[in-house]
Amino acid sequence: MSATKRDYYEILGVPREASGDDIRKAYRQLARQYHPDVNKNADAEARFKEIAEAYEVLSDEQKRAAYDRFGHAGPQMGGFGDMGGFSGFGDIFEDLFAGFGMRPRAAKRGPRRGADLRLDLSITFEEAVFGVEKELEVPRHETCPRCQGSGAEPGTSPIRCPQCNGTGEVRRVQQSILGSFVNVTTCPRCNGEGEVVMTPCTECRGQKQVQVTRKVSVSIPAGVDDETRVRLEGQGETGLHGGPPGNLYVVLHVQPHLYFQRQDYDILLEVPLNIVQAALGDEIEIPTLDGPQKISVPASTQHGKTIKLKGKGVPRLQRSGRGDQIVIIRVVVPTNLDEKQKQLLRELGKSLRKEHIPPADKGFFGKVKDALGV
Ligand SMILES: [Zn+2]
Ligand SMILES: [Zn+2]
Repeated sequence: MSATKRDYYEILGVPREASGDDIRKAYRQLARQYHPDVNKNADAEARFKEIAEAYEVLSDEQKRAAYDRFGHAGPQMGGFGDMGGFSGFGDIFEDLFAGFGMRPRAAKRGPRRGADLRLDLSITFEEAVFGVEKELEVPRHETCPRCQGSGAEPGTSPIRCPQCNGTGEVRRVQQSILGSFVNVTTCPRCNGEGEVVMTPCTECRGQKQVQVTRKVSVSIPAGVDDETRVRLEGQGETGLHGGPPGNLYVVLHVQPHLYFQRQDYDILLEVPLNIVQAALGDEIEIPTLDGPQKISVPASTQHGKTIKLKGKGVPRLQRSGRGDQIVIIRVVVPTNLDEKQKQLLRELGKSLRKEHIPPADKGFFGKVKDALGV
């Protein structure tokens, strides 16, 4: 995506308040003009892609609204359509080839799968670890209940298209140096449907679908992580002409925990110890995913030492077993000592060997890396 993207309305040459029909007309005309099969100019392909992209956004109510509010970042932020089964291109090519008469009419009227939807969901660290049931509000397009998806006001029915006489195709005889041939294109009046709605349904304004917000419950399995996508089969947009619905993808965002850090299925926890606890050993209580637990720290514990609690980590997603909890000891040198404490340390210091030579082993960072297997 270049930084100097042109305005989508400008690309299609329509005003910002243009109707869906105006946008479709402008797109069809430009697409015919710049299609690389037709237009051999060097920049035709780039123009064509630009036109297709502009139309993809402006022809979709949600994406257009997002674009109007947020500019080029909008349609991406809206997030609809850029997941797995990216539906946008299907629509572009379907419309385009219909315009060229390259696609059989039956395909235009035939079943069309609904678009996939994406929803972002924030969950807590614990919910990600142990799983949770959530109820979501999903806005999506469904078959209009008033007209049952015909687009025509109840009591009226679509009439046979007067331009193509219901065939959905327009034939034109063209002359060329090789003789005359018949050029068959999709009827522009009815878009190949063979019929046109004279009295549009008042609820969907002839769009055949309406936007409704449905409650959908999603069960999030134990062990998911940040950015995990949960797929809900068939909970996306309703299909057209009896086509199957798209899928709903729920993208999870896991909130950070106050103490725990996650590394795959292991839980890392840093625990401070003072120099006396580290030198003489101690029994301490630490948090785990399953609640507080007592562990004993051996005498002579060095800074950076790790203690592994087997099976106290995150349940493995769709498998059995759990990762481990890894406790990383952080030896804290006391500060703000009072005079009596300083005196005690000086006494101790007299009997300790002075340390100043760098160690020849891996040192602190090496040990932590070894323990974490990184
Ligand atoms: Zn309707
Ligand atoms: Zn027609």
